Amino acid sequence: MERDIMEVLLSEEQIKARIDELGKELSAEYAGKDPVVVGVLKGVVVFYADMIRRITVPCQTDFMWISSYEGSNSTGNMVVKRDISCDIKGRHVLILEDIYDTGNSLDFTYRHLLSKEPASLKICTLLDKPSRRKPGITLQPDYVGFEVPNAFVVGYGLDFNEHYRNLPYVGILKPEAYN
Ligand code: 5GP
Ligand code: MG
Repeated sequence: MERDIMEVLLSEEQIKARIDELGKELSAEYAGKDPVVVGVLKGVVVFYADMIRRITVPCQTDFMWISSYEGSNSTGNMVVKRDISCDIKGRHVLILEDIYDTGNSLDFTYRHLLSKEPASLKICTLLDKPSRRKPGITLQPDYVGFEVPNAFVVGYGLDFNEHYRNLPYVGILKPEAYN
């Protein structure tokens, strides 16, 4: 697994330090608001587990699972495979995501949750690849862990063909590993 990685982009220590910072900001933002923290499966699981443990105020957890239609990658044709299980009308909602790439997934998730009339809806993404944003997508994440260059990254929850999610850091995959 390790030998398929060309470069470690974010070490375990860097990720941990940034999550500590975000935890302080999110704890201040959501003090007294009992937010619902919605994780977007599956890439977010590792970040989610670490992030909520740095939020020191009461919060509720939930998950949703979205995917693009058969065989398409980032085409914008998204479906909800599994919706959140609680009523968020009038609640403060924070979306946690692994990566904001073209923006299709988060844009879809955001609009889906907004239609449920939350009191507020904000986004925290571990990674942001602004150079990849699809024209017309104007949504800005409220909290960003790290900006990353335009390369395919894996680890810390992010996969290639469902592999590499268990790497403890974020790395760039060697092109040979795609083949
Ligand atoms: P979007 O293009 O809709 O912003 O991102 C769609 C999804 O593609 C992300 O939630 C993530 O699961 C996946 N994705 C985008 N960029 C990368 C990347 O560099 N590495 C991995 N492993 N997944 C990515
Ligand atoms: Mg994702």
